[in-house]
Amino acid sequence: MAETERRTATIAMPLRYRQGPGVIRELPDIVAGFGKSPRALLAATAGGLRRIEEHGFRLDDRRLRAELVEFGGECSEAEIERLKREAERAGADVVVGIGGGKLLDAAKSAAYRLNLPVVIVPTIAASDAPCSALSVIYDENGRVVKLETHPRNPDVVLVDTEIIVRAPIRYLAAGMGDALATAPEALACLRGGGRTILGAYPSRLGTAAAELCGRILAEDGVRAYRDAERGELTDAFERVVEANTLLSGIGFESGGLAAAHSLHDGLTELPECHGLLHGEKVGFCTAVQAVLLGEPDEAVRFLRFCREIRLPASLADIGLAAGPNGGGIRSRLLLAGERAIAPEETIHSVGRPFTAAEIADAFEETDRLARLVISPAERTEA
Ligand SMILES: [Zn+2]
Repeated sequence: MAETERRTATIAMPLRYRQGPGVIRELPDIVAGFGKSPRALLAATAGGLRRIEEHGFRLDDRRLRAELVEFGGECSEAEIERLKREAERAGADVVVGIGGGKLLDAAKSAAYRLNLPVVIVPTIAASDAPCSALSVIYDENGRVVKLETHPRNPDVVLVDTEIIVRAPIRYLAAGMGDALATAPEALACLRGGGRTILGAYPSRLGTAAAELCGRILAEDGVRAYRDAERGELTDAFERVVEANTLLSGIGFESGGLAAAHSLHDGLTELPECHGLLHGEKVGFCTAVQAVLLGEPDEAVRFLRFCREIRLPASLADIGLAAGPNGGGIRSRLLLAGERAIAPEETIHSVGRPFTAAEIADAFEETDRLARLVISPAERTEA
């Protein structure tokens, strides 16, 4: 391979990222910036709309020419096409997505298929979906069908931390689970000579964003979780929201993914894991990646972190409980392992091949480590 190709990197991030308490009130002016008296299609859930209205956003704001469409709940091909038709019917100049990851992904896909700008308003900090030029498309049964990459990242990402801090705490923890994977995956991709999902090599900025994301979680993660439990909007909380949403986004897109997200995709093959959020699986899979790469001390550190913020930290926690004779799980893990090593998966950026059996072994070994490091008292408390 030519040296120049080796050096080719792509840095992807939103054009504008704004985070802080009360920023939702800027949304009408932001929308007004997209042309002369532009029309906006607002895609939201009823709950998402209520939450932003509680914090000062008015749908009947006279600065705003907007139509509301309620999200169907799944980021599926049918739902994206429906949003796209609604945007066309409304004559929208800009699409605004208000809510969680699946809604935001669907809004991005609908907007880019119409070549429209998109404004992203996350109401939870549960994943790094808001900033990326990527949508995860599911089928109606909740299985991942494909990743759709977009030509651009969102035009504006508006993160009102007064809204985020009032969301159920489970979402913040899931966002930290997703962000926990960012640094180890970016470093594995860099060391393995792998490419990012944009087909480029890791950029210095991407790797640095991933490392900063990991440092913030280590220093502020548990404190931010406890602050948010009490509804307190603190500096630690602000830093963790930025880590979950922006730094993790830049880290994975411009720094690279590796095994943890492929292991997660493997788990989406198992219906017993479908009740979990993306980041709840990714957090545990970060520990499994560490085992797979021969770093058990790191795996223990990740498992402890997951346990402290009440993320799943064992096979039973992710829905894989052993049958009466301890049987049944191995075949499930092999099924997940087959999916995790499929050609389109990011695990290959690690730079060495894995078998489904090695992946099943790593899941089992991670579960064994979890039993060693987590006391029975902690387990019953969780
Ligand atoms: Zn993720």
